[in-house]
Amino acid sequence: MPLLRSIYKTAIVGAGTTGLALAGFLKADGHAVELFERFETPRPLGAGLLLQPSGLAVLARLGLDDKLITLSAPVHHLYGETQRGTVIFDLDYRSLAPHLFGLGTHRASLFQVLYDHVVSLGVPIHTGCDAVETHTQADGQMSLRLAGGRDAGPFDLIIDASGRHSKLALRHGAIAHDTPCPYAALWGVVHDLEGFSKDHLLQRYDAARVMIGTLPLGQTPTDPRPHMAFFWSLPARDRTKVHAAGLATWQEGVTRYWPQMAPFVAQFADFDQLTFAEYGHRVMKRWHDGRLVFTGDAAHPISPQLGQGANLGLCDALILSEALSRSATPEDAIADYSRARKAHLTFYQIASRWMTPFFQSDQTLAPWVRDRTFGLMCRMPWMKQEMLRTLSGIKTGLFSHLDPGDWHAPYRLRPGASPSGSIIDRT
Ligand SMILES: Cc1cc2nc3c(=O)[nH]c(=O)nc-3n(C[C@H](O)[C@H](O)[C@H](O)COP(=O)(O)OP(=O)(O)OC[C@H]3O[C@@H](n4cnc5c(N)ncnc54)[C@H](O)[C@@H]3O)c2cc1C
Repeated sequence: MPLLRSIYKTAIVGAGTTGLALAGFLKADGHAVELFERFETPRPLGAGLLLQPSGLAVLARLGLDDKLITLSAPVHHLYGETQRGTVIFDLDYRSLAPHLFGLGTHRASLFQVLYDHVVSLGVPIHTGCDAVETHTQADGQMSLRLAGGRDAGPFDLIIDASGRHSKLALRHGAIAHDTPCPYAALWGVVHDLEGFSKDHLLQRYDAARVMIGTLPLGQTPTDPRPHMAFFWSLPARDRTKVHAAGLATWQEGVTRYWPQMAPFVAQFADFDQLTFAEYGHRVMKRWHDGRLVFTGDAAHPISPQLGQGANLGLCDALILSEALSRSATPEDAIADYSRARKAHLTFYQIASRWMTPFFQSDQTLAPWVRDRTFGLMCRMPWMKQEMLRTLSGIKTGLFSHLDPGDWHAPYRLRPGASPSGSIIDRT
């Protein structure tokens, strides 16, 4: 650690989960941070997500875990079965360590908690700023080019957190390859009637062509009633066909596979209430170009099979901020960051890509194998442990993992009165 810590003038592009978390860490460390967001009014897109113990640990480091937990729903159990009743997943975080849990949260809640924090720290947020490229000056400093030809800067460092469609990653030729997934998702938020989802992430499958999921979310920033995210997988090519057939046909299709979903899908009055999400996998040549660093989905978008994308972005934020605190120059910090992230990111990039055909594809062999092996693996102690570590966001290789004790603030659950029937207390 250098005797005098360097203070960097830093631009962060994108006020999503990764960018906001980065802004929180860097500002707290004394750096001069500015956020650039393309929307006039920053806002989250999509329905809900599952924060894993890894992501929750990062939020705890920002001091925001309690706030989000109050708004969200603890998830202990992942349970998935085929339409014929074959169990594919039956995993409880607590069998890995009693203090571990996932957190089902509305995107608006996660966004609001992070956004309010960044605003309270006094980070300038420049909205309506579409970042298109960066330039390195003779003295090594950088400027950020915005659409319309305006330049911002100079900065010691620019961090790209602008998501999967990052113009900077594309412009700076940092992408080795980008593979879109043939399957996509329709997802939305409904009221969790009579606490249907409890503290479970529930999934139902038919081969890999059909996948339906529900995730408890707790409240939204504007509605204290319990909510649930609803997920329906479909081939991306079928989007127009599904819309043309009409909402009622789609609702009937869902309830044919999962009759208990009837009161939930009936809450959708229009396809506009469902977000159509496409995704893909990206491999970068490197996670930086000079002093431009790629983070979050801009660097490593993955399919949501393992529920890790936002968690990985949060981990990027923590680890990049730590690298900047202990390095003498931005170059050293970036090299340090790339080294520190390699194993964790590589594991989840490979694992997500490997898992996708088992759950979202036209294949028949992969789901056939899944139906005969996954449930069995959940009952084999070593395999179950590894599956839970994978889910928790702490794997760094086939036989290596982060210590959840290091990563997770010590939480304990006790019976209480939150929407999901539990409240979570820090021990
Ligand atoms: C169906 C689905 C389910 C998912 N479920 C989960 C889950 O359960 N758990 C999980 O951890 N992850 C999940 N994910 C993944 C997760 O949503 C992403 O990994 C996460 O949102 C990435 O965050 P980010 O901040 O890196 O990027 P983003 O959330 O994409 O944010 C990027 C920000 O940059 C802004 N921006 C974009 N371009 C520019 C520009 N040129 N200039 C300025 N600003 C710009 C955008 O407006 C946005 O505010 C899911 C994804 C999908 C599609």
